[in-house]
Amino acid sequence: MVNLSNIRITSFRPSWLPASLEADILRLDQLHPEISGNKWFKLKHNISVAQSKQEGILTFGGPYSNHIAATAAACRLANIPCTGIIRGEEHALELNHTLQTAANNGMRLEFISRTEYREKKHLFHYPGYHIIPEGGHNAEGARGCEEILHLLPTAHYTHILCAAGTGTTLAGLINSALPTQEVIGIPVLKGARFLEQEVAMLLHPGINTKWKLLYDFHYGGYGRTSPALINFMNSLNRETGLPTDIIYTGKLLMAFHELCTQPAFPANSRILLIHTGGLQGNLSLPSDVLMF
Ligand SMILES: *Cc1c(COP(=O)(O)O)cnc(C)c1O
Repeated sequence: MVNLSNIRITSFRPSWLPASLEADILRLDQLHPEISGNKWFKLKHNISVAQSKQEGILTFGGPYSNHIAATAAACRLANIPCTGIIRGEEHALELNHTLQTAANNGMRLEFISRTEYREKKHLFHYPGYHIIPEGGHNAEGARGCEEILHLLPTAHYTHILCAAGTGTTLAGLINSALPTQEVIGIPVLKGARFLEQEVAMLLHPGINTKWKLLYDFHYGGYGRTSPALINFMNSLNRETGLPTDIIYTGKLLMAFHELCTQPAFPANSRILLIHTGGLQGNLSLPSDVLMF
């Protein structure tokens, strides 16, 4: 099982952090090697629903989806059958690390074309299965993420920063933050203006916590890496010991670095960065890219 007491808040003081700011990191990545970070919180209520009244779990994702890897591992722990509908063909013969892990954990993988994926005909083959949308974007997912800020004392932070894919985690953070705090999401997708609505949809009525999405830090778009990103991740790790992943948390930290140089935060801000995990995704890289 996962052990919530593995999660820690650690102090973060790289050389580039202005002296007037304080920053800490909430290490959700330390929860579990495969069900890393935010995915556990997005899945927990979905797993309970499936356990109490359904036969299995059906979910969706691309071939590098952390959500697919996490769902497979969580279903194995809960002893629930699960199927992952994977967008894209031709991956069946040579599974990448993410899909291999999912398969090893007992997930049935079904590969379909982008067109079939859109048409959603495959849904009819799984009657009685609880359907989790791609990326775990549903109300149960957001509800699970409301626990994140209550794991440890977080009331003294002025700003909370988190990477955003579907925005589900961000919605949970906003729903559970204090009205005096500001929650900032960094979308890793290019052209992600639609997220505004996707996040708003999952908020409780009457929430008056300030929040915003900053759209300029996707660094080329979803899954795109660059030498600048890799160098940043390596030097951050060398200096502070912090491991980040190429899809989400590397970009979150690079965005934070840029925001510090603007400077975007008033003096004496106390910032909590959410390390949402995703480190298993780095295993799909050639082994000489990252130095950690
Ligand atoms: C999936 C994922 C996210 C994005 O979470 P959303 O709730 O979809 O916004 C962020 N970080 C990591 C490491 C992830 O795996």
